[in-house]
Amino acid sequence: MSEISPRYVVAVVGAATAGSEIARILASRGVRVIVIEQNPRPYGKIEDGLPRWHVKQRRDEFEEINKRLDHPNIEFVPLTRMGRDIEFNELRTGWGLSAIVLCNGAWRDRPFPVEGADKFIERGLIYQNPLIYWFNHYPERSYTGPRYAPVPGAIVVGGGLASFDVVKVLQFETTLAALRARGIHEDMVRLEREGIEPVLSTYQLEWRQLGIQPCKLFYRRRVLDMPLSDIPTDAPPKRVEAMRQARVKILDKARRKYLFEFEERRVPTGLIENDGHLGGLQMSQTEVSGGQVRILPATAEPVHAPLVVSSIGSIPEPIPGIPQRGEVYEFVDEKIGLLIDGPTAVYAAGNVLTGKGNIKNSLESGTAVGIHIAEAYLGVADDGTLPSLADGARQVAAREGRQIASSITARPPLTAGQVAKILERVRLRQREVGYHGNYRRWIEEVTPPDLQ
Ligand SMILES: Cc1cc2nc3c(=O)[nH]c(=O)nc-3n(C[C@H](O)[C@H](O)[C@H](O)COP(=O)(O)OP(=O)(O)OC[C@H]3O[C@@H](n4cnc5c(N)ncnc54)[C@H](O)[C@@H]3O)c2cc1C
Repeated sequence: MSEISPRYVVAVVGAATAGSEIARILASRGVRVIVIEQNPRPYGKIEDGLPRWHVKQRRDEFEEINKRLDHPNIEFVPLTRMGRDIEFNELRTGWGLSAIVLCNGAWRDRPFPVEGADKFIERGLIYQNPLIYWFNHYPERSYTGPRYAPVPGAIVVGGGLASFDVVKVLQFETTLAALRARGIHEDMVRLEREGIEPVLSTYQLEWRQLGIQPCKLFYRRRVLDMPLSDIPTDAPPKRVEAMRQARVKILDKARRKYLFEFEERRVPTGLIENDGHLGGLQMSQTEVSGGQVRILPATAEPVHAPLVVSSIGSIPEPIPGIPQRGEVYEFVDEKIGLLIDGPTAVYAAGNVLTGKGNIKNSLESGTAVGIHIAEAYLGVADDGTLPSLADGARQVAAREGRQIASSITARPPLTAGQVAKILERVRLRQREVGYHGNYRRWIEEVTPPDLQ
């Protein structure tokens, strides 16, 4: 632990990409940072979202997060869920912290848009987040979570990049099962890298011989509208059009490689019940004009399927005490991630602020909000030991910091007694969960040897 006596103590909720970045920025400026994480490991959607065929990227990102969190000014508090083990309002008003930063990501699947659908959860309806969690973890011997058995002919309602991953998971699992039935044990990563047909051809097999009904992805807009690549808001019209056309190519390539079916401009408008299970959906057609989607009346047709996966986006979990506007948190100042002002100001960063499921966006958001909190809110300067930061994000943060520099003096530093009291609470919780203070050793202890 550092011998520096910090004048500020900040709690960061959620230890992953954004949370670890903010913790690093503050800790390296002498702020004591308490990182509260619900899981034993801090990797968030890198571990539980990004599919495990991204073998190297996942390992690299795990280590980046480790490097950021392994700092003497950071108090890691694992296995601690805000809302269950610590109440948000108690953290904000009872702990005497300098600030709180919510980096808790977007873990709630947006509800399936047909009334009554949720009674079929696990009975014909699966949401994306638990499905991908299962896929990433089920090979571990110690895995005890829910188990899913993807079946041929499933339908996926979605359209974003993550829904491509869902479709791929279903195609890989059903293909591998069909191969196993023929005594062939193939590798999922190879299917992902080379594509299904090239792998099958090494066994002198063709896809149609496996007799698998492919899964089908339904999207409510047009292929051209799929958020498969970000189009910059200032892009000239010609470039916008070229980028939209590129989306058609991305989809075609994915379909050729992974052999799934696709239909655009279709939305679910009804449920087909089959013996207490969801047996498919009524799908209606839509019209897309001026950016708006209109459901065309009297166009519903039944689409029977043994499994429906909902992959229509993830939203932040509601937190009692955090004002909400619709699906998202209501910010006092969204540009700087400020949720609630006051003696313990509350900020947010990462997925929960950007609304984008993207590692780079989460990291940059962590950088910008972290620098803002350090320089503009707490008034602690860069000590020159920071590793280089993403330039764009840093410049934006610095500009905003200067704009509200008048508020710097408003944050009184904590007394040594106040800091000690907060650390007492931290130690108590760390003891309760068995965390001994050695970050690297803890990670070794709580990482299954077969985590992929
Ligand atoms: C299927 C899928 C594929 C993806 N593919 C890509 C890709 O190819 N490229 C890309 O850039 N991005 C991809 N992403 C998105 C990317 O992984 C995430 O956007 C990014 O990792 C989010 O980082 P974050 O730090 O903002 O949030 P998270 O990683 O979600 O971190 C939030 C942290 O907060 C913790 N937490 C949540 N609630 C609480 C609580 N109440 N108390 C305590 N702790 C809590 C969580 O356990 C977690 O550790 C994908 C995501 C999915 C689901």
